[in-house]
Amino acid sequence: MTKASCRTDYLNRRLSLTDSERSRLDDLILIRFQQWQWPDHLTTVMSYWPLREKAEPNTFLITDFMEFRIPLLRLAYPLIDLQHPHMEAILVDEDTSYKKNKYGIAEPVDGSRLDPEEIDLVILPLLAFDKKGYRLGYGKGYYDRYLTHCREDCYKLGISYFEPMDQLPGLDPYDLPLNGCITPDAFYEF
Ligand code: ADP
Ligand code: MG
Repeated sequence: MTKASCRTDYLNRRLSLTDSERSRLDDLILIRFQQWQWPDHLTTVMSYWPLREKAEPNTFLITDFMEFRIPLLRLAYPLIDLQHPHMEAILVDEDTSYKKNKYGIAEPVDGSRLDPEEIDLVILPLLAFDKKGYRLGYGKGYYDRYLTHCREDCYKLGISYFEPMDQLPGLDPYDLPLNGCITPDAFYEF
């Protein structure tokens, strides 16, 4: 299996879930997250806007819970520059407006850019992950590049409807492992 065929496989598995199955899995993932003792002094989080067309897990359940538990939480979303290609984290609040980019992902149109070193937790989109915490993204490498600018102790969290693979195919030297990944069945820490 190649990275490419693995991406197709896992995307198809996700797309074949019904709305009510996904909603049940989202709830199970939220329960796992609620039981997690997250790192101390966590205030700055970068999440992502889940794409319905790709049946991505509902990240809002998780960030809503964090906002409830951490009153001073600062939340950021990615803004990508397709030309370079490059990604930034933009701080958002209830007044932020969003605009869809080329991939249909809602991005903040205003808001200040966050220094990557300020981020305590990144919630990363993924298609699959393995038992060592390696992550398979959509193949553009935005996060692999971005995370090289984050602090060493920035917690990299994945969310997956499916259990880990034994080993991802075709790992590259720039692929960075996750620190944790939540599935409906377990919270894996690496
Ligand atoms: P994804 O992580 O989205 O699944 P890949 O790991 O296959 O995708 O990476 C996609 C591309 O991104 C790679 O072919 C590589 O050229 C580029 N890339 C990834 N990480 C880096 C990095 N740290 N520096 C420069 N280019 C990178
Ligand atoms: Mg990668």
